[in-house]
Amino acid sequence: MTFSVNQLEEARRALDAPLYADVGGDVDVSFEFSPPKSEKSEETLWQSIETLCPLGPRFLSVTYGAGGSTRDRTHATVARIARETAVPAAAHLTCVEATREQIDAVAQEYWAAGVRHIVALRGDPPAGAADYAPHPGGYENAAALVAGLRRLHPFEISVAAYPECHPSSADLAGDLDNLKRKLDAGANRAITQFFFEAETFFRYRDAAAAAGIQAEIVPGIMPIGSFAGVQRMAAMCRTDVPGWLARLFEGLDDLPAARQLVAATVAAELCRKLYAGGVKQLHFYTMNKAELSYAICHLLGVRATPRQAAAAA
Ligand SMILES: Cc1cc2nc3c(=O)[nH]c(=O)nc-3n(C[C@H](O)[C@H](O)[C@H](O)COP(=O)(O)OP(=O)(O)OC[C@H]3O[C@@H](n4cnc5c(N)ncnc54)[C@H](O)[C@@H]3O)c2cc1C
Repeated sequence: MTFSVNQLEEARRALDAPLYADVGGDVDVSFEFSPPKSEKSEETLWQSIETLCPLGPRFLSVTYGAGGSTRDRTHATVARIARETAVPAAAHLTCVEATREQIDAVAQEYWAAGVRHIVALRGDPPAGAADYAPHPGGYENAAALVAGLRRLHPFEISVAAYPECHPSSADLAGDLDNLKRKLDAGANRAITQFFFEAETFFRYRDAAAAAGIQAEIVPGIMPIGSFAGVQRMAAMCRTDVPGWLARLFEGLDDLPAARQLVAATVAAELCRKLYAGGVKQLHFYTMNKAELSYAICHLLGVRATPRQAAAAA
C-alpha cells in the first residue's frame, strides 16, 4: 500500500487534532435522489431536498427507474428541483427499452424545462434477462447515448464508473476503455458506483490516470441506512462488503438510532480518507433521506451558509 504525502500529512493531523477539526469544508458535494412512489414518500423527499440545499451542493440528481419505469416521475421531480430550488438539477437517463427518438424526446423535454445536466447511463437488463440487449433502434450503450445528447444540446453530462469493475466487464482494462469511450464521446465527468474502502477508489483513480483519463472521477458515497439493503445492492453490482463493515453493523437491526450513528461514522471516515487523498468532490446516494448525508457533510466542514439557506428557502 502506498500513501501520498498529502495522505500522510492528513493522517498525522487526524492523530494530533481533535476529531475532524482540520477538515476544511472545501469539498464540493452533490446529492442523488430517486423519484417518489407515493404522497408520503414525496413529502420525505422534499423535506430531504430542503434540508440538503442550504449546504450549497453542485447539483441534485434524480434516478431513472429500471426500463424507464419512472420516466414521468423522474421528469416531474427534476423539473420541480429546477423550478423551486437554486441548485442545478441533473436528470438520470438510460437507454433501456426505448428508441433513440424516444430518448431524444425525453432529453428535449429536459432542455425545455431548463435542465442542463444529464447523467447518461446504459441501464440494466430488464428483470429476468441475463444479458443486456439494446433496443432495436435504440442507443446501444452509454457512450452512444452521450454522443446522441451532445448532438442535441450543450448538456453537462456525467457518466458511471466502476472502481470494482462493472459486473459485465471482462477486466479493469476493458472497463476503463469503456469509460474512456464515454468521456471521448463528450461526457464531462464520471461518478462512481459505491465502495467501502478508500484504497479501492485510489487504485481505480491511479489506473484511470495511467489509462490516460484526465476527467474528474467523483466518488459515489453510500451512507448505510439498512445494512441488509446495502448487502443486496452490493451483491448485484459486485461491490465488496468488507468483513469489518459487517461486524460494525452486527446486532443493530432493531436499533435504528444506534445504526444511524454507526453509519454516519463509517461514511464520514471513508470521506475523510478520500479527502486526505486529494478528493474534493463527493456524490452522495441519499436514498431520499437527508440526515446521514447532512451529518457526514457537517463533519467534513460543509456547512449551510445564510446566503444558500435563503436561496434554498
Ligand atoms: C452514478 C450511477 C448512477 C446510476 N443511475 C442509474 C439510474 O438512474 N437508472 C438505472 O437504471 N441505472 C443506474 N445506474 C446503473 C447502471 O445503469 C448500470 O450499472 C448498467 O448496468 C450500466 O450502465 P453504464 O451507463 O455504466 O453502461 P455502459 O458504460 O454503456 O456499459 C456498462 C458495461 O458494459 C460493457 N460495455 C459497454 N459497451 C461496451 C463495448 N462497446 N465493448 C465492450 N464492453 C462494453 C462494459 O463492461 C461496461 O463497463 C447507475 C450507476 C451509477 C454508477
